Amino acid sequence: MRTSHGRVRRAVSAVATGRPVVVMDDGEAQGYLVFAADAATPELLTFTVRHGSGYVRVALPGAECERLNLPPVCHKDGELTGTAGHRVAVDFRETGTGISAIDRARTIAALAAAESTPADFRRPGHVIPVRSGRRGVLGPLPGAAEAAVDLAVLGTRRPAGVLCELVSQRNPSEMADRDELASFAEQHRLPFVSIAEIATYRRRTEPQVVRSAETTLPTAAGTFRVVGFRDAADGCEHLAMIAGNADADTPMPVYVHIECLSGDVFGSLACRCGAELDGAVAAMREQGTGMVIYLRPPVARACGVLTSATAPDLLSETVAWILRDLGVYTVRLSDDAPELGLLMFGAIREHGLHVEPAASTLSAVG
Ligand SMILES: [Zn+2]
Repeated sequence: MRTSHGRVRRAVSAVATGRPVVVMDDGEAQGYLVFAADAATPELLTFTVRHGSGYVRVALPGAECERLNLPPVCHKDGELTGTAGHRVAVDFRETGTGISAIDRARTIAALAAAESTPADFRRPGHVIPVRSGRRGVLGPLPGAAEAAVDLAVLGTRRPAGVLCELVSQRNPSEMADRDELASFAEQHRLPFVSIAEIATYRRRTEPQVVRSAETTLPTAAGTFRVVGFRDAADGCEHLAMIAGNADADTPMPVYVHIECLSGDVFGSLACRCGAELDGAVAAMREQGTGMVIYLRPPVARACGVLTSATAPDLLSETVAWILRDLGVYTVRLSDDAPELGLLMFGAIREHGLHVEPAASTLSAVG
């Protein structure tokens, strides 16, 4: 994990100083040369076209596409097709034919410039703008366009990134595979990073929950402090129910529960969810300390009726961010959420929180 974060940090530093990086898209099994659009120079474009497909694109957030009047390249019955991100190609108005490295560098830099206006571009042209998805690589369809904008933003450049597929040197009729991408990066001393690594890095360094409510809640089992959180990724709402105070020396017993409609609400006996949740709350009351983190994933779960398929690593990240927000740094985990188990243990430790193994009295009661 640390090496992976180091690779992302090296890529961000390179992009911040206007240098290119190699980005691997594991989904497409191909790689891209990527750099900040506001750093475009004729030299960088010459390098890109010599080693790349020649299909040079500039990824921009949707708001920038709107601001510069870059309409989608195709519609079908009012619906955008699979290439929804592609916008009408442009040339900067002061360029010649628009295709030379000098011209393309000027167009790319103009697409990134804050002071550019729609009138600065001729349409169609030779540089293809692509709209990057909202939330970048953390959005639903993370690709090279999202990675390019994310790297530019992380590198505190303008939010615009150039991307161009790298061609195989061994077999120029094909694209470079992972091995070739790695050796290309090494040969040219460029950082090499994957889209998945950028996503993991962002999830670890940017808060993934926002505190949305806080109150004292009287319940049949006693009165507890309750804090509501909204998930930055999908807008789902999670809840933390707390007894006692978290302090650095005493581990806070934490029980993590994934919502189960049939078990939690109707007391279904098809699973142990309801009984475990009741047990955890009862133990919290008896001990006067403890915390129940109630997770509500985007895909509803009701054991025996509906099955849930939310990725456990994402839920583990959510738990870690809730603990960080609440200032809980030492926890004793109950392992009653078998779907999370070791993953959650690992995620919480990666966030620098101290965690004691399971077998807490909370889980014993559950
Ligand atoms: Zn259940």
